[in-house]
Amino acid sequence: MSLLQGKTAIITGASRGIGKGIAIEFAKQGANIAFTYLSSDQKAKELEQELSAFGINAKGFKSDASIFDSAQVLADDVMKEFGSIDVLVNNAGITKDNLLMRMGEEDFDRVMEINLKSVFNLTKAVLRPMLKQRSGSIINMSSVVGVKGNAGQANYAASKAGMIGFTKSTALELGSRNIRCNAIAPGFIETEMTASLDPAIVKGWTDSIPLKRGGSTQDIANASLFLASDMSTYISGQVLNVCGGMLT
Ligand code: NAP
Repeated sequence: MSLLQGKTAIITGASRGIGKGIAIEFAKQGANIAFTYLSSDQKAKELEQELSAFGINAKGFKSDASIFDSAQVLADDVMKEFGSIDVLVNNAGITKDNLLMRMGEEDFDRVMEINLKSVFNLTKAVLRPMLKQRSGSIINMSSVVGVKGNAGQANYAASKAGMIGFTKSTALELGSRNIRCNAIAPGFIETEMTASLDPAIVKGWTDSIPLKRGGSTQDIANASLFLASDMSTYISGQVLNVCGGMLT
């Protein structure tokens, strides 16, 4: 069964990591994929080819999610090329970790712009087509850190907590138009973002996870598929923790 047959999904930040995993799973399920990235041109080309092999339309757009006007241009281009926007996954994100004592203003602002303002930018951009269609599913990639905080990540935690408030408000505003909005809060997921961490720190984390392992990009792709598809038509305004039991 193809759960997203004929639907079009925009996924931000899909040249690698979690976004790439979501793009592949959605393509397997029949969705046409418009994905964005910031600088990984080669990886984006390769992903376009990998996705097209599933017999769907796939295109990578070099588009900075933190820039309001770029999001508008992206949505217009996707409508022209794909004809609809059914699913939006706001996945693009960065970390610039530091203790508050050492965190500079620039590191705070950049994290807020890329992680949080991007969600406003992209959601605004897809609103008109989704309102016209009277359907849509928006998925915001938050984090367990946004739910419970983390020392050394005040900027990141604030951005991810902000996404949850935005998610709940969007769900309240747009529910009557059959547009759903949910957040996913991944725990420790093994990607390039986490590969640079000290192995001793990683071991400390996995030991404290009830399921005793880091999550995979497939674990997040599966949750995203559920929220994107008609399997979850009565679910909106929720935060789905995908964290191996870290949050209970
Ligand atoms: P990642 O491997 O570092 O990939 C980040 C992706 O975002 C890349 O495709 C990157 O494009 C893109 N990107 C960065 N800035 C962008 C911008 N301004 N505009 C458009 N695209 C941009 O990250 P990840 O680990 O897969 O994480 C994905 C999301 O999940 C993030 O929001 C992250 O906060 C969240 N998350 C991750 C974990 C985890 O454990 N990994 C846990 C909780 C939440 P380029 O390749 O061109 O740079």
